[in-house]
Amino acid sequence: MTNLSDKTSYDVIIIGSGMGALTVASILGQLQGKRVLILEQHYIAGGFTHTFKREKGYKWDVGIHYVGDLEDGHKFRRLFDFVTRGGVRWQKMPYIYDKFVFPDFTVEAPADLDSLRSQLIVQFPHEEKALIQYFEDVVRADAWYRKYILYKHIPSLLKPFVKPSKADTLLSTGSTKDYLDAHFSDQKLKGVLTSQWGNYGAVPGQSSFANHAMVVRHFFKGGYYPIGSSKTILQSIEPIVEQYGGAIKINHRVEEIILDGDTAVGVRGQQKKGKDFLPFEYYAPVVVSDAGAYNTYCKLLPASPRIKSRRESLSNHPNGLSHLCLYIGFKESPEKMGFKGENHWIFDGYDHDALFADLDAVTEDRMKMAFLSFPSLKDPEAKAHTGEIITFVSYDYFKKWSTERWKNRGEDYEAVKQEIAERMLNFIEGKYPGFKEMVDFYELSTPLTTEHFTLHRNGEIYGMHTTPDRLLKDWNQVKTPIKNLYLTGTDAAVLGVAGAFTGGVFASVELMGKSLGLLHYIKLEGRAEAFAKELKSKGIRTVFGG
Ligand SMILES: Cc1cc2nc3c(=O)[nH]c(=O)nc-3n(C[C@H](O)[C@H](O)[C@H](O)COP(=O)(O)OP(=O)(O)OC[C@H]3O[C@@H](n4cnc5c(N)ncnc54)[C@H](O)[C@@H]3O)c2cc1C
Repeated sequence: MTNLSDKTSYDVIIIGSGMGALTVASILGQLQGKRVLILEQHYIAGGFTHTFKREKGYKWDVGIHYVGDLEDGHKFRRLFDFVTRGGVRWQKMPYIYDKFVFPDFTVEAPADLDSLRSQLIVQFPHEEKALIQYFEDVVRADAWYRKYILYKHIPSLLKPFVKPSKADTLLSTGSTKDYLDAHFSDQKLKGVLTSQWGNYGAVPGQSSFANHAMVVRHFFKGGYYPIGSSKTILQSIEPIVEQYGGAIKINHRVEEIILDGDTAVGVRGQQKKGKDFLPFEYYAPVVVSDAGAYNTYCKLLPASPRIKSRRESLSNHPNGLSHLCLYIGFKESPEKMGFKGENHWIFDGYDHDALFADLDAVTEDRMKMAFLSFPSLKDPEAKAHTGEIITFVSYDYFKKWSTERWKNRGEDYEAVKQEIAERMLNFIEGKYPGFKEMVDFYELSTPLTTEHFTLHRNGEIYGMHTTPDRLLKDWNQVKTPIKNLYLTGTDAAVLGVAGAFTGGVFASVELMGKSLGLLHYIKLEGRAEAFAKELKSKGIRTVFGG
């Protein structure tokens, strides 16, 4: 049992240990000396930034294939280095960092906007004008989002100064498909431009142009991979949390946020210890949730008029994407087949909405798309060669096994997994003959695996679905109607590692400063700037290659 002083000795409690949580804990420790307690239900901390291992040293990340915006001098890089105290080293991916593979041609995405634009103009000369306009609009819609998230979080008095223009809002909150249909006539080009839709979790007809633009712009200068795998994020932040008197406790599942009237005062849940579940309670002046908006409002908080409309809105919001991931160990280096560490987006057509409409294709041997990535080729410190094949699938297909326990879902579940794994391998073999020959080991994760390890509804991979109106929803922000309760991570901002990190930055600033948040943000930037200078003066680099 926890004793009373342990129960109350923290300044902040965070539910979940993903990127959003770790960011808050590090900033609050470093800027305000806060003791932060992170409670994670999984037996490994880090959320989607955790890594797992199997035989022969095979090791995979669950939620990082590449991250952008890590060039020298970029604000995200500076803040990330500060939050991790320079503990994460990034390897730049090859100059061709993504390949968009269609039935009759392949587009190679270079880590340079001018080259990408020129290359597309050469391939699609009849769309030159539209392409020039498109890249300008991508920058506009991406900037709109930054302004809009700031607008949501600053005091009312300052709002008129950062309010995005109506024209930019209209551009950004329309669907990606509407934008493309209005500007382009070439179906193949529309398919090429939206090849990375899996990075933002919604096909062109379902995603906002802002979400599309954010991801496309994020990779204008290519992608980066954390050397030593994504677990280095947790490894660099955990000591910072501990240095300031905080702790990260795994196997601690929060079941309820404790309220005193309309104020959050603590959390209650169960700790898994061997085969037993032991109840726990912790109290602190501030509670932050990285468990996602749906879980926080609809599961962890008791029903009340204050959150009624948010609960309804979240319950009615369409489900986000669920996925299958085949984790592969190779007998030899995939370089043998010409792979260099780039990702491959492979499609059986150009109309992503139509391909996606056949969501359960993979369960019926009509697989239509796959994302193929090679963690070991991106990581100079990798000890064994690995790959991942990802495709999307409906949660409903697996629902009948959802009440069974992890690893005990029965022979029929295992048989289905085996069949699907074979199909995924065959799909890649069809594109790259000889691929299967290299495979030594594989293991499939389903939406039930993701649900089990993250508690995200239906095993959603990017939080609440990135529909055009998601960014406008009142729950898509750090502040909640409950006093001293804040959201962080993806659902507080936007998807992806950088998105969850942004949620963490906004959450930290908000709870440090209330209406003076802006001053705290300036202070944070100042500290990050000073830290960047310190790294430079010591000759410490955090980015390699390129
Ligand atoms: C297959 C896949 C590939 C991806 N690839 C990329 C990529 O290449 N680049 C990129 O930028 N992003 C990628 N992402 C997305 C990115 O990893 C996530 O958006 C981001 O890491 C989410 O961070 P988060 O802080 O919002 O929360 P999460 O990482 O989801 O962490 C939330 C944590 O809260 C815990 N939790 C939930 N409920 C409770 C509870 N009641 N009590 C205690 N703990 C709880 C969960 O167990 C989890 O550990 C990918 C994601 C997936 C799934």
